[in-house]
Amino acid sequence: METERSGAPTKAQLEKINAFARREMKAEEVYVFRAALCDNEVDRDFECFSRDALEKLAPLFVGKTGILDHERTSRGQAARVFAARVEEDGTKTTARGEPYARLIAECYVARTAETAPLIASIESGIRKEVSVGCAVAKRTCSVCGKATCDHVRGRRYGGELCFHILDEPTDAYEFSFVAVPAQRAAGVVKGFSGARKEENGLQQDVMKRLETGTGGLTLSEAEARELRGAVKRLRERAEDGDRYREALAERIRRAGAVAQPELGRELLSAIVKGLSVREMEELAESFTKAAERKIPVQPQLFTEKNAETQADPAFRI
Ligand SMILES: [Zn+2]
Repeated sequence: METERSGAPTKAQLEKINAFARREMKAEEVYVFRAALCDNEVDRDFECFSRDALEKLAPLFVGKTGILDHERTSRGQAARVFAARVEEDGTKTTARGEPYARLIAECYVARTAETAPLIASIESGIRKEVSVGCAVAKRTCSVCGKATCDHVRGRRYGGELCFHILDEPTDAYEFSFVAVPAQRAAGVVKGFSGARKEENGLQQDVMKRLETGTGGLTLSEAEARELRGAVKRLRERAEDGDRYREALAERIRRAGAVAQPELGRELLSAIVKGLSVREMEELAESFTKAAERKIPVQPQLFTEKNAETQADPAFRI
């Protein structure tokens, strides 16, 4: 979903805006634009809102704020929804066979130095994907109509695609705008109940583009930030992995010194280098068991066997 270019508010829009604004705003002080928040098409998570859900979501989004590029620290960049309604596009039909409809939010931002980048990017035609979050009370399977069943979203049953129909929205949350290069294929970034689908903190969508992309790859500022974060987290996990490997290597060298003393510490170190963690774990286990067999067993003075030995008539005086 994307934002659309607009500009100065009409008189009627300004009246609605001033119902939310902390102080009376003049037309030249605000910038208004439209944002398509969500639609009734089946999305890439194999979920879709019912038409009725869109209608019920509209008033829930009024008064909610939208933040640029997940920049939650900068409240000054927040846009606010002052009106929302469902708009139908009679030329398109959804996978469910319904007329295509979108929930359109009319938003405003105060014209300030902080909001200048948001306004400039909308003006320049750079698309802003809108990521919305909401809570729904009802979720039904498209195949059987039940709330809980064994059908799996995204699979086909007798040629029929299974997806979930989201109904009865109970709340709408703050949403965010993510700047995306205009040439990028259309797509919706969204989360329900605030849950975003991520892999190591990286949106799966970005991961997919990294893995399957050929030639150049263009990332938005927000995506680049997410990627940097993901790389940092992976690096930390890699360090943990290295520490575990070193601990395993030391265990192999120690147990090996007893189990296979002829190999020597140097040779063991060289062998271990070429092994996977799984192989190292097996070797450590095997050497430890072998070493335990070689190490003299603690005297078991009070076992029955010892008592018998002591009771052996041959040892009687
Ligand atoms: Zn089902």
